[in-house]
Amino acid sequence: MAPVATVKIEDMPSIDGYTEELMAELQKPLSKAPGLGSDEKSEIKGLYEQADGQNLTAPIINLFSRLLDMRRQEKGCSGDFGISEDKLQQLAIKHQQIDEHMVSVGGRLARALPIAGEANSRVEEYLAQKDQVAPSGIEKWEQIQENTARIMSELKMNDDDWNSFQGQIRHAIDSVATLSKLIDLPEDVLESIARVTKSYRMRLTPYYTSLIMPGVINDPIMLQSVPTGEMIENAGIEIPPVAADHSPARLIDQFYPRVLTIKVTNMCAMYCTHCLRLAHIGRKDHTYSKEAYNEALEYIRNNEQVRDVLITGGDAFVLPNSMLKWLLEELDKIDHIKIKRLGTRIPVTAPMRVNEELLDILEESSDKKPIRVVTQINTAQEITPVSRDAFRRISKRTFTVLNQAVLLKGINDTRTKMWKLCETVQEAYVRPYYIFNCSHRNPQFSHFRVPLEVGRDIVESMYGNISGDAIPRYIATAGGKIPLHRSNVVKLEDDNYTLRKPWNGEEAEYPDADPKVYARELFAFSR
Ligand SMILES: *Cc1c(COP(=O)(O)O)cnc(C)c1O
Ligand code: SF4
Repeated sequence: MAPVATVKIEDMPSIDGYTEELMAELQKPLSKAPGLGSDEKSEIKGLYEQADGQNLTAPIINLFSRLLDMRRQEKGCSGDFGISEDKLQQLAIKHQQIDEHMVSVGGRLARALPIAGEANSRVEEYLAQKDQVAPSGIEKWEQIQENTARIMSELKMNDDDWNSFQGQIRHAIDSVATLSKLIDLPEDVLESIARVTKSYRMRLTPYYTSLIMPGVINDPIMLQSVPTGEMIENAGIEIPPVAADHSPARLIDQFYPRVLTIKVTNMCAMYCTHCLRLAHIGRKDHTYSKEAYNEALEYIRNNEQVRDVLITGGDAFVLPNSMLKWLLEELDKIDHIKIKRLGTRIPVTAPMRVNEELLDILEESSDKKPIRVVTQINTAQEITPVSRDAFRRISKRTFTVLNQAVLLKGINDTRTKMWKLCETVQEAYVRPYYIFNCSHRNPQFSHFRVPLEVGRDIVESMYGNISGDAIPRYIATAGGKIPLHRSNVVKLEDDNYTLRKPWNGEEAEYPDADPKVYARELFAFSR
């Protein structure tokens, strides 16, 4: 049992149990002759003078820490150090008096510092690896700029083309012939891409292409955007999109009473190889009529239990500003709609779309009823100075920006990669919201699937090791979103729970609220 700290206000100048233990350890006689050299003796003298002469805690800790080292190395014990027991006691008391929270020298040195040291060691491996294993687009910015120059010259794009959404779409890469000019790929890979793109659509914005690192095998940006042979070779039959069972009105998907989606377009700036909506995004771009939107809006107007509308697609930011403005205004006019969401990946695939006009529209509507922008970022590599700036500006003008990542093999399926993603996303003004386990419904991307348990380990490992609000919820999509998080309640005995700390497996007792007390009538204010 660890000694219990006893801080009694009335007799403050006394030392606590932790410090008594520390003193006892320093006093314990050596098993051999002392071996303190004269250098060490003068070092101790110097440390003592610093601790004695200043009203600071650190010099006292330094002194005791060094004494403890020397005792543990059997170089000397208390008598050998040349400082009397009384003086050491006085320093220990002084520490407790200086420290605002009355932490004792024993508490800090023998408890808090080793505990903090143990915690620090949990992230050592991550800190050593993160920038090599999962570099962000900010760390790779120089290379990305080199790529940009090369791509602009190959595609004959000027600055205006590059910096406008129209320019990015007009010059989008949708054939193997163009792709092969921009990225060095072996002949057989090019053949396989050519074969697959007969069945599955490829479209990369020049900007998204610039994030691909030359010479990296299975670059995570390329894996997400360039269709590969697996998509047609994977065995299995596609299970039709659940939308068929859940579309009560034109363009609407509804799983829940209070939240629904309007799929306002089938277009995206870039087509993801792991897209759940593979069937919707189709082979051809479609623009939808106001008539169609009006039918969807009519359903929303007539269903007063709906409060949250998610405008999605495809990608909501594909819509022209005027259309987005109109849709948001129509939703704002409906009393029972209290909150809105826009689903878009464009801030990472074509961030130049986020212009002042769009931001003004978002702010104006968000001032009426909160807008959240929901995006999809799967690797830190997708966060560049440009996308970070787009998110910064969106987050300034709306309620919040949320990230829904998809757990993908080889892309983000390790602790290091996912921790780095979540931290980088948060540093870019975006809050990690969901991690989806990649669905079984589409055999086309079964090669990206990650076992459920691997995802659970990754998400659990974040607790206590990265900021709590950078930890997403782990979700399966199976006709609605089902949380996959493991329970940390390991035992229940007579209303006494045993809980497990996800970061080190340590167990903690947690007595439950007494059901008898809970059943009583509420106290004072209930009369
Ligand atoms: C994801 C989704 C929602 C929103 O779910 P939340 O858990 O509120 O983020 C609503 N409707 C449909 C059809 C969805 O796919
Ligand atoms: S942005 Fe979303 S809807 Fe568009 S292709 Fe990617 S996953 Fe599919």
